[in-house]
Amino acid sequence: MAVAIKKWVIGNWKLQGSQVFNKELVEGIRASLPALDNRVGMSVCPVFPYLIQLADLLAGSSMVLGAQTLSEHAKGAYTGEVAGPMLKDVGVALVLVGHSERRAYQGESNELIGKKVRAALDAGLLPVLCIGETKQERDAGETRSVLTGQLDAVLSLLDLAKEDMVIAYEPRWAIGTGVSASPEMIAEVHGFLRSYLIGKAAAFGARTPLLYGGSMNGSNADSIAAIKDVDGGLIGSAALKADEFVAIYQAVLACA
Ligand code: PEP
Repeated sequence: MAVAIKKWVIGNWKLQGSQVFNKELVEGIRASLPALDNRVGMSVCPVFPYLIQLADLLAGSSMVLGAQTLSEHAKGAYTGEVAGPMLKDVGVALVLVGHSERRAYQGESNELIGKKVRAALDAGLLPVLCIGETKQERDAGETRSVLTGQLDAVLSLLDLAKEDMVIAYEPRWAIGTGVSASPEMIAEVHGFLRSYLIGKAAAFGARTPLLYGGSMNGSNADSIAAIKDVDGGLIGSAALKADEFVAIYQAVLACA
């Protein structure tokens, strides 16, 4: 799937929601934003059991249905797993891969994450690759090497002339803490990522959306969205409140 949309606001609902909560949230978002601007995509990523409910709730809207992870396998004897073609079958178009909570709690390695990105592309899904350093790695001056290690494990499996993904830079220490990275840190890392990707393949590097994630909310979205090479956000807690999520969308749109 080619990245036709350059900017994104994506909500990662994590292990949260219920049929009643999901309906109220989506209806709240749609009431405030009856139509999306085609320069900025919006997506929500609920847990697997609610995907079919969300596919119904999103009918008639250009909001994109996303999933939080997928199996590296397309089918087979892998109890408890969910495959890319199955996600596609129920209306999913985009999938998060390598979120730091999966790296930390499910032990997902760079190698496995590469296989999952490959599986997503093979199923016709747009992968949103999440990368980011820990506080210790940042303090040790290892941010760039950690990020390039996470990227290289995936880029080597893609045909950069033809295939696309979205990349979300999410410093682990900023996720769910209420403290986002500073605009200077974000600008420095996003500028580095852009140059690194352009060095790998110029057109791919220029067109790949680079999202920021980590305590982005309705109050700091204006300043984060305005940073060069920030193409939107991957949002956790603030994605569970319609007014916050819409405010973030509007902040990204104002910079489109
Ligand atoms: C996330 O989980 O991807 C995230 C960015 O969470 P939060 O916005 O809550 O920091």
